Amino acid sequence: MSVVSHLINGELVDSNRTLDVTNPSTGKVIRQVADANAADVERAIAAAQAAFPAWRDTPPAKRAQVMYRFKQLLEDNADRLVKLVSEEHGKTPEDAMGELKRGIENVEYACGVPELLKGEYSHNVGPGIDAWSNFQPLGVVAGITPFNFPCMVPLWMYPMAIACGNTFILKPSEKDPSAAMAIAELLQDAGLPKGVMNVIHGGREAVETLLDAKAVKAISFVGSTPVAEAIYTRGSAAGKRVQALGGAKNHAVVLPDADLENAANTLMGAAFGSCGERCMAISVAVCVGDATADRLVETLLPKIAELKVGPGTRKGLDMGPLVTAEHRDKVLGFIDDGVKAGAKLVADGRDLQVADHEEGYFVGGCLFDNVTAEMRIYQEEIFGPVLCVVRVGSLDDAMQLVNDHEYGNGTCLFTRDGEAARRFTDAIEVGMVGVNVPLPVPVAYHSFGGWKRSLFGDLHAYGPDSVRFYTRRKAVSQRWPSVSEATQAEFSFPANQ
Ligand code: NAD
Repeated sequence: MSVVSHLINGELVDSNRTLDVTNPSTGKVIRQVADANAADVERAIAAAQAAFPAWRDTPPAKRAQVMYRFKQLLEDNADRLVKLVSEEHGKTPEDAMGELKRGIENVEYACGVPELLKGEYSHNVGPGIDAWSNFQPLGVVAGITPFNFPCMVPLWMYPMAIACGNTFILKPSEKDPSAAMAIAELLQDAGLPKGVMNVIHGGREAVETLLDAKAVKAISFVGSTPVAEAIYTRGSAAGKRVQALGGAKNHAVVLPDADLENAANTLMGAAFGSCGERCMAISVAVCVGDATADRLVETLLPKIAELKVGPGTRKGLDMGPLVTAEHRDKVLGFIDDGVKAGAKLVADGRDLQVADHEEGYFVGGCLFDNVTAEMRIYQEEIFGPVLCVVRVGSLDDAMQLVNDHEYGNGTCLFTRDGEAARRFTDAIEVGMVGVNVPLPVPVAYHSFGGWKRSLFGDLHAYGPDSVRFYTRRKAVSQRWPSVSEATQAEFSFPANQ
């Protein structure tokens, strides 16, 4: 059985431990992945440290040239990468291609790094004194990524980190490591010097070694909220810059004047695409008025019944399996819990069977009506194909519900009322907001991040915030007095007025 190795200093390196990688459509172990211990991680850190001085001094325009070649290689190898994602994650090839393309947009943004790193300059801030700020790389930085976007989320991080002059260590999810590894090898092929990009695989031990290492200056994390919080706490206590993006419970608020057919169509993709395993998935539809809720449920039910579910590697489907047997059981547990709590399960995907894939981790689309804020299925992230309908009396009630939730990643309002939309976008306590756009994932030249317990840290991922996250500002004041100019000692604090 093949093993997915680490990439350290441009070489493939194995560990003496491995973990299984499973195809969730069949339930079969298809390969192994190396499981790094502390010594493996320290080797990667040493390689990244050694590569840093020369890479820092490489002109940004030259670093950008690597990114241009990298983008081309990603496009040339797209079908191979998509196949790896579908095989290990279970998402459909069309969905995997979508995430790869959104990832490539971040490489395109990183190609503009000479422009993005232009500093700020002021002439004559004092007599004969010029001042400027420039943005310098931090050194060795690391990224820890989740299973659900094995191409895109790593690409949120290292193209910009590396383009800014840092060296990088990626720890991808051990559940679907192959695409992230194949992409890192393409970056080597694009001409990146050895040691600038390293990949280590594994779990908690690998991550904690990165968190505690003095040489690692910053950590970007994306994953579940309990782990995000622990990483933020431990990493910042060790003096690092940390951005840790966590879980979500994204609400779509549906007003009575919304175009319900359109809302239902877009909600189907937002709730059930990728089997609901997206941090921006809509998992709650908050309907204003019973009539709106009745019509929405009526419109959704036949669409849910028609969902095409099957193996992730097959084209033309709507949903593949959940990622692991453990995760499938957790999702099923939530559904049972919702029924017990009194929510009405109007579409039940629990018994779905996929022909010739009896061992796959499939769950069909589920719709709960009459969900209330006290229920666990409302409060917690399910991360499966389960949409909950909550009924409220007014837009204000809907906004209160959204604002009271501990998560604040994404939200959306369906309406034709511009005044309501303006009020919603202004006062809603969520980091990414859509109006008639249920998945408001910002494009690569904006930044991505939630509020409340969906993000620990202050700078968001990718886009302009990532330039700030992966650099530190240096402010320089400079004076060149002429040789004949006499300088006097000044004891009061220098001021211009
Ligand atoms: P996870 O938290 O289980 O794992 C994420 C990463 O952390 C993996 O690389 C994993 O190996 C590592 N890890 C897991 N447990 C750890 C521990 N105890 N100590 C140190 N490292 C640990 O998340 P997941 O199941 O891979 O991904 C799904 C979660 O990610 C969902 O909650 C989803 O909402 C979230 N997510 C958030 C965003 C966002 O942008 N906010 C994007 C994608 C996914």
